[in-house]
Formats: sequence, C-alpha cells, structure tokens
Amino acid sequence: MISNKVYFNRQTVAQFEIAFGSIAFVCLCWFWYSSSDSLSISTADQIPPVIEHVDQQIQIPKRSAKTQQLSSIPPLNERQFYDLSYVVVTGDSLETIFKKHQLPITELLEILEADEPYLFLDVLRPGDQLRFRVDKVRNRLDAFSRVLDPSKTVSYRRSDDGFVYDEIVIPTSKVAEVTRGKVFGSFYVSASSSGLSDNSVMTITQLLRSSLNFNRDLRAGDHFQVVMERETIDGRTIGKDRLLAARIYSRGKEYGAYLHSDGSYYDSNGSSLVPALLRYPTRQKFRISSHFSPRRRHPVTGLFKPHHGVDFAMPTGTPVLSTGHGRVTRIANHPYAGKYIDIDQFGSYSTRFLHLSKILVTKGQRVQRGQVIALSGNTGRSTGPHLHYELHVKGRPVNPITASIPMLKSIPDSEINNFRLQVADMQKLMVSDESIVQLDSPVTNESQTDQRPDQS
Ligand SMILES: [Zn+2]
Repeated sequence: MISNKVYFNRQTVAQFEIAFGSIAFVCLCWFWYSSSDSLSISTADQIPPVIEHVDQQIQIPKRSAKTQQLSSIPPLNERQFYDLSYVVVTGDSLETIFKKHQLPITELLEILEADEPYLFLDVLRPGDQLRFRVDKVRNRLDAFSRVLDPSKTVSYRRSDDGFVYDEIVIPTSKVAEVTRGKVFGSFYVSASSSGLSDNSVMTITQLLRSSLNFNRDLRAGDHFQVVMERETIDGRTIGKDRLLAARIYSRGKEYGAYLHSDGSYYDSNGSSLVPALLRYPTRQKFRISSHFSPRRRHPVTGLFKPHHGVDFAMPTGTPVLSTGHGRVTRIANHPYAGKYIDIDQFGSYSTRFLHLSKILVTKGQRVQRGQVIALSGNTGRSTGPHLHYELHVKGRPVNPITASIPMLKSIPDSEINNFRLQVADMQKLMVSDESIVQLDSPVTNESQTDQRPDQS
C-alpha cells in the first residue's frame, strides 16, 4: 500500500501558513463581496409567485453600467428574472405606472400592440393587480400580466416578434340566486333594496317595459321574483352575473322574461322581448375591406395577429348604429384602436366599434337598436377610413357576418319544449324556499372549457 503522507520541516510549514492565510483572506474577501451581490439578487428572485399588495415604493433597480456588462455573460437562469407586483390606485395609468418603475414606454407600446385585438389593458380600475417580470441580465421587461377577475389573468410575454398575448383561465361554477320582493314606491327602489344591482334592475325594466308600464301599472304590494346566474370560485362570487329569469305580478297578471339558449330573452310563451340584432352596423352596406380572422397579417406591422372584427370601408363621418338594445360600457381612445365604444347587449352579446371620428353616446347610456352612436373615422393605427365592428358572445369574439344571432320573433317548434322546461324550472325555483342553487360544477361547465376567441 502506498502512503501519501508528506513531511514538512518547521520553516516550510510557517511559509505555507502565511501563504495559505493570505490566499484564504483574499478568498474570504472575494466571497463576501460576491455573496453580498448575489444575495441582493436572490432576495429579489425570492419574491413568491403570488400576487400581493406591494406599495408604490418598490423600484426596479436603475439600469447601471454593471448590469449592462453582465449581458454578455451566459446567465444563471434563476438569477435572470425577478418579479414585481403592483396594485393600481386611483389616478394611475399604465404610462404612469411604467414611468414610476423606470420601465421604458417603448416596451409599454409593444405590449399595447399585443393587446390590440383584445383591449384588455385599456381601462384600469383601482385595485387591479399587475405583475412585471424583469429580465435583469438583458435589462428589459420579459412579461407583464393583469388579473382581470378572479377567473382570468391575461399576460404578455416577450418573443422574437415583440410581445405575445396569453391567458390563464380558472374554471368557475355557476349558481342561481333567487331574489324575491314586493313593490313599495318605484320598482327601481324596491328591487334595489331587495339586493339587485342597478344593472339587473335596468335590464329587467328594459325587457318588460313593452308589456308593462312601470310608472302607471305597478301598485304597492305587487311582487317580483328574479333569478340571477352568478359565477363562483370556491363558493365565492366573482362579479360575473347574468339575468336568467324575472317576473312581476301586477294586478293578477304575470309579466315574465326568460333567457333562452340562443342568448336572448322571451316571455313565458316564447315570444321575443328583445328585437333581433342588426347584422350590419350601418344603414347602407359597405364593402368589407378585411374579414374576421383568427390569424391575419396586419396591414401596417406585417405581423400575424387575430382580427376579431370585420372592417367595412366607408367615408369618415358615416353614421354608426348600435346593432341592438343595450348599455354603453366603455368609451376610450387607444393608440392603435383609435376612438372606440363597447356596448353590452342583452343576454349573451356585446359589440365593439373602433377607429371612430366622433362618439355620440356616453358611458352607461342605454341605447336602442338602430340608434346612431358615433360617426366612423380613421383614428388610431389605420390604413384608411373604415369601421371595425366586433360581435362577442359570452365574451368571445365571433364573426359578425356569419354568427347565428337571435333573429327570432318567437321560439320555433323544434325548441319550444326545451324552452318550456327551462321556464318551468325557473318558476319552480322562484316559488321554492331556496335562495341559492348550484347550476353546474367546474368540470361540466362547457363555456369554460375553451375561453379562446372563436376560431370559426
Ligand atoms: Zn379591423
């Protein structure tokens, strides 16, 4: 067996000790210096991937010369990124938030570009949760996300072609919630005080006002029953509600509105309470200059992106019509979409009109089918005067030219039995002792299985 023992004399040992001590001291200094640097990086890395309230004092470190030198070094992946959460406060805009965090506005414009087909980032609300992922090595924003509601988060990730849109959808359950009340004073006051939202009360009023005069016909003691569908996660409502059924008993007569599977409302006999949607948002027909497409080459940028509407070529100043009865939910001006309007139609439908020159309605206003809501234009990023029109069903864009939209005056024989069963279910619920009934579970909820825009 060979021994590896080495023998030193006293002098050699002393020299070795001095040399080793010096090396150790240098190493220790180097380690302290480098570890203090890496510690400050890893602290940021350890921000948990949970969105939480972070006050506005959090700052992205300044883009120093030292960081720029690092970009040529292959990075340790776990040290490359750090996350930053921000909760929107009154007065914020994305521009002020980006400036506050020393993020360049050019990156915000790239993100708005990716958001152009969706416009999810256009209107911020206080309390909105935003998240930034910063690439420290390349010294730039890598991803940005916004929680739209507890069931949906949208994100924009950097790719070779700028930022790319993505979304995370959490399945929701649906419950039916019954509200019962009596009329004392106006219907609006009575229904509001029984817990119905302003929107729900306005929708019921609009649906029933052709058969019931709310000012003249209602008497104290008349009663009403309303069934709302509410989406929930873990038993908590998330603010997404829809009217399923409502009826008012007045002087021995029943006035009812029931949602059919076509997304529109009918009385208990199956006669339509809402006029059919107009197919075209103008009085005369105009040439389609760009069709609805899940993927089209953008005429200005050359990039492939979904085109969630139909473009009609028309002279600036052409009157634009609301295609149905509804309520204006958004009026905005976007760097790419231009001046635009969103309208919530009754039931499952909403519409959007882009590149307008003049808007003639206000946010919250009730509009009628065929009402002139704006004048067409060429605002935002546009290759010429045109109207971009979108139709959404349950929040998903569909082709407005080919989509089956409610056109019925009454429910056809082939569907009337299903409709009657639905009406009977609702009426049973209205007179039952229950207030909240589970409608489905997340697993069987077909509307949640594919939240992507319609690919048809
Ligand atoms: Zn368009």
